[in-house]
Amino acid sequence: MRDMKIEQQAEWDIERAKDTYGIKNWGNGYFDISPDGEVVIKNPKDASSSGLSLVEIIEGLRDRDLHMPALLRIENIIDHSISNLNDSFRKIIERLGYQGSYRGVFPIKVNQQAQIVEEIAQFGERYSYGFEVGSKPEMIAALSTLDNNSDQMLICNGYKDQEFIDLALQAVKLGTRCFVVIEALSELPIIIERSKALGIEPLIGVRAKMMTKVGGHWNSTSGDRSVFGLSASQIIQVVDVLRDNDMLHCLQLLHCHLGSQIPNIRDIRGGVSEACRYYADLCSEGASMNYIDLGGGLAVDYTGAHSQESQSRNYSLDEYCEDVVETVMSTLDGYGISHPTIVTESGRATVAYSSILLFNILDVARFEPVEIRTSGGEGHELLDNLRSIFDYLKPARVQECFNDAHYYRDEVRELFKRGQLGLRIRAEAENLFLKVLQDIKSLLLKMDEIPKDLEGFDESLADIYYGNFSLFQSLPDSWAIDQLFPVMPVHRLNEVPGRRAVLADITCDCDGKIDRFIATDREYSPTLPVHSLKESEEYYMGVFLVGAYQETLGDLHNLFGDTNVASIRLHDGGGYEFVKEIHGDTIEDVLGYVEYQPWEMKLRYRNKLEAAVNEGRISARERQDMMNTFNASMQGYTYYEKDHLL
Ligand SMILES: *Cc1c(COP(=O)(O)O)cnc(C)c1O
Repeated sequence: MRDMKIEQQAEWDIERAKDTYGIKNWGNGYFDISPDGEVVIKNPKDASSSGLSLVEIIEGLRDRDLHMPALLRIENIIDHSISNLNDSFRKIIERLGYQGSYRGVFPIKVNQQAQIVEEIAQFGERYSYGFEVGSKPEMIAALSTLDNNSDQMLICNGYKDQEFIDLALQAVKLGTRCFVVIEALSELPIIIERSKALGIEPLIGVRAKMMTKVGGHWNSTSGDRSVFGLSASQIIQVVDVLRDNDMLHCLQLLHCHLGSQIPNIRDIRGGVSEACRYYADLCSEGASMNYIDLGGGLAVDYTGAHSQESQSRNYSLDEYCEDVVETVMSTLDGYGISHPTIVTESGRATVAYSSILLFNILDVARFEPVEIRTSGGEGHELLDNLRSIFDYLKPARVQECFNDAHYYRDEVRELFKRGQLGLRIRAEAENLFLKVLQDIKSLLLKMDEIPKDLEGFDESLADIYYGNFSLFQSLPDSWAIDQLFPVMPVHRLNEVPGRRAVLADITCDCDGKIDRFIATDREYSPTLPVHSLKESEEYYMGVFLVGAYQETLGDLHNLFGDTNVASIRLHDGGGYEFVKEIHGDTIEDVLGYVEYQPWEMKLRYRNKLEAAVNEGRISARERQDMMNTFNASMQGYTYYEKDHLL
């Protein structure tokens, strides 16, 4: 019932709005609510700026024919995340007197979109921020994006065939610090053979299978049964084979990756100290070790709880960097080993904040009685029973009323099924049932103690808001692994959100819904506070922190395609511009993905219409109108299109 209390709030202001949606907790300073109730993006370099309203951006998109749903990328946030990470490591390294340096790489799998990868390469150059790749396509993307003479690292993970290894060797020849990380023993003979054939000395890393168990969703990345990395005995085999081939000096990097989204800082420290053990012993085996690559895992605090729950993290960026540097330093000092370059592969933390999914609400389903014409004279005994509940509905008997309402309603449904009462009576009964439930809800709000069985019953009365988006296309992790993303209306936040709702998408799939929302006082809330829809005014929602992993994991469920995408850049000192845009898939595009031939479809449709003209069923003019509708549709957006009013 605690959720319902919001509706009772006589006093509502922007501060309450911020608390209700937790924007201060998860927003990382990038997002806020303006005095007139709109979500704004803050320029990360200027905390005092008033911020750019998302409603203004939505209007700007609409005027450019980039309709909802749309994915908004904020380039400054990517830049800021890269700066933050690098500056934080540098600061700690200086303070602790660590003798090595820090090099970050961006794991391309986290967001492979060309615009993102190019922005990261370009902005990251000042920090020599490189890339981690896990496949040949990612390798090609990285190779063609990085500058020749840059100092950016390129780390090659994943299973590598000869072609992949040739690409890596040739990159070394071009002057890129490109490491082949051995993930499987079978890669080693190919590396040795190709290195000799091409006359290029490789830079080699080994990926160790980690024993440290971590909390969170990705904990199977480590442990004996992990599919990644080499066991201790395999690492020794690599060392021996390299030594036999006079190539042990090529082995310079140790790679470890504990998993993504590690919520607890203790697990990170545990993993780093395990990595240092491998590192130290590879040094004493005689390898020319120089780099310790600790992989990803730096978590994003999606819920803003600052806890060790799986969707949060119990540490700050500075604490992460300090723990990493401090652990490497103290462990290796113990062995008298000089400090290596520390490499990390943070993907999620680098890009999650930079994208927002925006969509409009199309419709709402409410669980409230509606006006219907009653059956007039011929009532039904069960209707009378339902009506009689109102006579004894009082706090002491609220549970009884609740049970009776269900009992009579179910009876009505049963009789309907058996053909013993009609649709109109049933409709009337359902209406009365909802009326009783609404009255119970009002009563409960005034009661201090709520019967145990009725805790949470208001959730069954929550509205369903239908959003113009596909969960499967745009928020795959929400569906696949119950990832929580911050969701909220992006305007009208100066008004009390008087309704509670779950969100449904427009796929015809009952899984296409969001019914877990961030809550400040517990793990999650099954409903979201929202405003009533207004006649002829759009209602816009945003899903935040969707920049990591969501874009390419998405699928074409119900053939909803890629959304429109726009990138903006905030100017220092105010103002902004739309720097890039991509129109989403057309219907023709998505049909092409599943092997339809659009030209053939048009031809077949044309022939069908022409046949109808020949049979005299439609006129030639009507044929052309139908053909035009068909063609326009093929060229159109896969999502719900309407005249965009605001
Ligand atoms: C997925 C992955 C990463 C990225 O992890 P994040 O938790 O997103 O930072 C880094 N390195 C490797 C090897 C990975 O597989």
